[in-house]
Amino acid sequence: MMYDVVVVGAGPAGSTAAKCLAEKKVKVLLLDKAAFPREKLCGGGLPTRVVKRFPYIKPFVDSVSYGSVMYSSSQRYRFEIIRDKPFLFNVRRRDFDHELLKLALQAGAEVREGTTVTDISLRPDDALLTLETGETIETKMVIGCDGARSLVAEKAGLNTTQQPVCVTLVQEQVMTEQVIEQYFTKKRLVHLYIKAQGIAGYGWVFPKRDSVNIGIGEFQSAVEASRPRPSLKEAFELFVEQMKKQGMLPKDFVVENLKGATLPIFPLDQTYSDRVVLCGDAAGFINSITGEGIYYAMTSGKLAAHLVAEGLKKQDLSKEFLAQYQHRWYDEFGKDLRLLGRFNNQWGKNSEKIIRLMSRDKKFAYLIVGITGGQISFTKYKLPLILRYLYVSLRDVFRKR
Ligand SMILES: Cc1cc2nc3c(=O)[nH]c(=O)nc-3n(C[C@H](O)[C@H](O)[C@H](O)COP(=O)(O)OP(=O)(O)OC[C@H]3O[C@@H](n4cnc5c(N)ncnc54)[C@H](O)[C@@H]3O)c2cc1C
Repeated sequence: MMYDVVVVGAGPAGSTAAKCLAEKKVKVLLLDKAAFPREKLCGGGLPTRVVKRFPYIKPFVDSVSYGSVMYSSSQRYRFEIIRDKPFLFNVRRRDFDHELLKLALQAGAEVREGTTVTDISLRPDDALLTLETGETIETKMVIGCDGARSLVAEKAGLNTTQQPVCVTLVQEQVMTEQVIEQYFTKKRLVHLYIKAQGIAGYGWVFPKRDSVNIGIGEFQSAVEASRPRPSLKEAFELFVEQMKKQGMLPKDFVVENLKGATLPIFPLDQTYSDRVVLCGDAAGFINSITGEGIYYAMTSGKLAAHLVAEGLKKQDLSKEFLAQYQHRWYDEFGKDLRLLGRFNNQWGKNSEKIIRLMSRDKKFAYLIVGITGGQISFTKYKLPLILRYLYVSLRDVFRKR
């Protein structure tokens, strides 16, 4: 049997792509090596624009955070934003990804779980996928949504260079709602510690309905090899100890079941080839300042599905036709990712000053929070940000005198 499209990987990118294709009556197979519900290491923080763009996911939201507190590395400065409107939607990836998969199934996609793709050969008239079991599947088109270290990207020859990554450690800890509200208030404030314990990255605490997600992530591209710093595991333990001392976590909190993952931080130069497009982490669509990726995964899945459906109608799945995918994602979010990427190797360099300025000027703070959180376009607000930065820096100099 020949499929029109096989989507490899049923994370947010893959399930979104499969759902959109099935709604367009395309014969699509969605497969994943895991059996769902499956765990996926993640903070599970969704900026509000994800729900705005994909309103059908609202019922899958676990809880809502109505604000955030951001600390400078010395913790001398902090910036707090507390509002009545949602600041961040929280999801549990185990449930969220399962619900998205069910939507793809309901839309008419064929789904195979516990199915690992081990090889792909792209031929002039079709593509042949080989599974771990030795079984083969024929399809006209492959959409690679298989996450970081994508096999589809490798087989299509698209990830030829070794890109820097963000290395992370996470503990998801069950807590009663009462304890969560005691420590993080009813507003479930998110806490962000810039350069926590001196790492070239940040530590986060995302309070959810009945658990907290505590993590630490370091951007390899911003690490200064000459600067001594603790290992990531030591940094995590010190980070938790410090929060306990400050009364930010219960005294009996124990570091356990730590899990690690790496995530790509820069888009691949090319995200398409003959009969192949890549979405989400497989394509490196990550905000290289925050590590956020679900929005880009779902958006790219949708963009890919629309273009592939057009290609099937025109009977053209050549790389010349699929090159439009690159233009579409670039127009939609790629310009912002590129601009954020330019600051990545500077990660945290001026964070002490930036948080101080944020704590002293709300307008500047809202621009930083809006841009890094993807609420407003970096490309569009670059100039207002620079002007505000110059203005508040100058005011800061006079204030010091
Ligand atoms: C520690 C950490 C914290 C994060 N926090 C956030 C956050 O708070 N907010 C946010 O927006 N983003 C966050 N991210 C990023 C986010 O998790 C990813 O961007 C997102 O999961 C990408 O979705 P995806 O569908 O592209 O890939 P994935 O979610 O990784 O899904 C890929 C799927 O492909 C399957 N697969 C892989 N290889 C094969 C194969 N050979 N055969 C079959 N199936 C295969 C896997 O089993 C998996 O289910 C975080 C990432 C990490 C590591």
